[in-house]
Amino acid sequence: MLIKRATLLDGRVVDVRVGELIEEVAAISPGLAARPGEGVVYAGGGTVLPGLHDHHVHVRSAAAALYSFSVGPPGVSTEAELSQLLSNATPGPDGWIRAVGYHESVAGELDRAALDAVVPRIPVRVQHRSGALWILNSEALGRVGLAEHPDGRLRSAAGGWSEAVRRRESDLAELSHRITATGVTGITDATPDLETADVESLVEANRLGEFRPRLRFLSPGKVILQEDRLDLDDLTAWIAAHHGAGRPVAVHCVTAAQLVVTIAALRAAGGHPLDRIEHAAVVPDDNLADLAGLGVTVVTQPNFVAERGDSYLADVPVAEHSHLWRVASLLRAAVPVALSTDMPFGHGDPWTAMRAAVYRTTPSGAVLNPGERVSARRALTMFLGSPDRPGRARAVEAGQPGDLCVLNEPPAAALAELDAGMVAATVIGGELVYFKI
Ligand SMILES: [Zn+2]
Repeated sequence: MLIKRATLLDGRVVDVRVGELIEEVAAISPGLAARPGEGVVYAGGGTVLPGLHDHHVHVRSAAAALYSFSVGPPGVSTEAELSQLLSNATPGPDGWIRAVGYHESVAGELDRAALDAVVPRIPVRVQHRSGALWILNSEALGRVGLAEHPDGRLRSAAGGWSEAVRRRESDLAELSHRITATGVTGITDATPDLETADVESLVEANRLGEFRPRLRFLSPGKVILQEDRLDLDDLTAWIAAHHGAGRPVAVHCVTAAQLVVTIAALRAAGGHPLDRIEHAAVVPDDNLADLAGLGVTVVTQPNFVAERGDSYLADVPVAEHSHLWRVASLLRAAVPVALSTDMPFGHGDPWTAMRAAVYRTTPSGAVLNPGERVSARRALTMFLGSPDRPGRARAVEAGQPGDLCVLNEPPAAALAELDAGMVAATVIGGELVYFKI
């Protein structure tokens, strides 16, 4: 297909011919003429970008979350609000009530008895906002063969029970539409310990066109460190084993302790050029140089400042605010950084995440850690990284994958707005997968 009269981020106005790869990028005089039968999109001077890549998401959880209620702050913050929402909830197409985003600040450590008191006869499944804990009521436990479970608090999706509540594939198509409507043409699924069947079913949905964005998986080289069981030797051995098999690793670090152990383990095991640290939610000053020295890429989510910033301001000691969700200081230290949304645990709109990186405004309007602000251009560029090297931005040039995002605004206006509403067309492999009329 042919995209006429689009503006590159550097200001050049061009025509772009795109197939599986970008074939030609040409100045508009004389420009490229449409071939017989070739589809043409008139960009009218709007910006054309490489398709965005969201470097850390959870596809299955995001599909499940489409029909879920959010039961955490700021929307739900008291036990009364939780009870009201669950008791009035309409079950999804599968007959279950699904809730996500739970946090103890709402009603303490939920268990089956607490849920039974609110919803006795419909199966209810509440996911903790960490993504690693589910609470089921008695009706739900009975349906997944765990009627005798003591408290209904299930720490892992493994073990078969989640199989019993697996979503239908049609949810993937809806998720695919929502993702591509934001200009995203590829995602990296960061779910640890994905089973082969999970990977295969997603790859199949991709092949059949039910799920359009290009897919990458961090599993099996992805680990979430348990804060109460941090063991340097275990982590070093795990990293060395993956490197030995030719695979980079991705280590989930949301606390300073996790980061320190990970840095030590990467030093001991030796680095792989594609190693990643996920989140890096807390980075003490001393660790900036360590990360730069290791050459490890940080894949982070400043969108949590916009989503949870007020809790951080209330709960984290003031002296540590400057360590939270860093971006600018990592870049200054020459650490490769990419952004991502952590959908569905973070809001899945990359443009919201970019605005968070630029303004760092919390829901109440406070500003968290303003020294970590970056320019709009930088924030956008950090969603244009290549899937395998998230810290290295792609460009619209011949020979690159035919994945593009076309905005209805020229670059200056687009950077001022950073809003998903500007996405006019999304192209994957030369095919128009989203188009706003
Ligand atoms: Zn995640």
